[in-house]
Amino acid sequence: MRLLLLGGTSEARDLATHLVEAGVDVTSSLAGRVARPRLPVGKVRIGGFGGVRGLRAALADYDAVVDATHPFALGMTTNAAAACADIPLLRLERPAWTPDPRWHYVDTHEDAATVGRGLGQRPVLTVGRQELARFVPALGTRAVLARVVDTPDLALPPTWELVNSRGPYTLSSELSLLSGHRADVLVTKDSGGTHTWPKLEAAATLGVEVVVVRRPPGPAGIPTVHHVAEAVAWVKELTC
Ligand code: NAP
Repeated sequence: MRLLLLGGTSEARDLATHLVEAGVDVTSSLAGRVARPRLPVGKVRIGGFGGVRGLRAALADYDAVVDATHPFALGMTTNAAAACADIPLLRLERPAWTPDPRWHYVDTHEDAATVGRGLGQRPVLTVGRQELARFVPALGTRAVLARVVDTPDLALPPTWELVNSRGPYTLSSELSLLSGHRADVLVTKDSGGTHTWPKLEAAATLGVEVVVVRRPPGPAGIPTVHHVAEAVAWVKELTC
């Protein structure tokens, strides 16, 4: 059993660990976006495949695919669904957060910027480096603190402050971040999971407004599980 594991998430790293321990020949695939990625155990390949056609060609070396990419990595998930017509594909997608009635849900990052502008003067953005440009038109003159892993290729407005860091975070560090900035609104996307949950607890504690970008709908009809153990079971079933 040669498994291609589309990764870039903590769940993908956990899954690689379990499958390597179980003797599965796993190759984890990373996009190569971050400068110093946390590498999973087992084999690793880095970089895009070259669209659906490239991925389809690469699949000649594998017997099955698990797509454990981030819920907002829609391009990779769509390509995997299109390329895996003749090979078993499982989607491992971490559960979304349980909505808090106080949160403001929006469908796009542009809407998040507009709603965030209406809710506060000192936003904290935790939406990822690739999305920051979408916040500049609405929030370009606000005192924004943007937290990212790697510095974006973007000339930031002079009123913006960049904080480079990588989770998981603690409640106490998130309280310091929000209160240190005197934040009145937190903008995030519905990444789900526990690693970035403390910022939402901190916002609730401090009475900071929260804007959440909804997940984009993924391709229909792909078998999907939400927990690593379920993905391990799916792979083991295939190897029987
Ligand atoms: P995306 O927009 O869905 O993908 C764009 C292109 O990047 C894909 O078409 C593919 O290029 C390449 N790519 C993406 N994931 C890949 C992977 N695991 N292995 C090989 N190539 C990959 O992706 P994204 O949102 O930029 O995310 C990139 C990576 O970061 C993903 O692995 C994801 O799990 C991780 N990540 C994303 C977020 C987020 O908020 N988007 C957050 C945390 C981690 P080709 O078409 O050339 O194959």
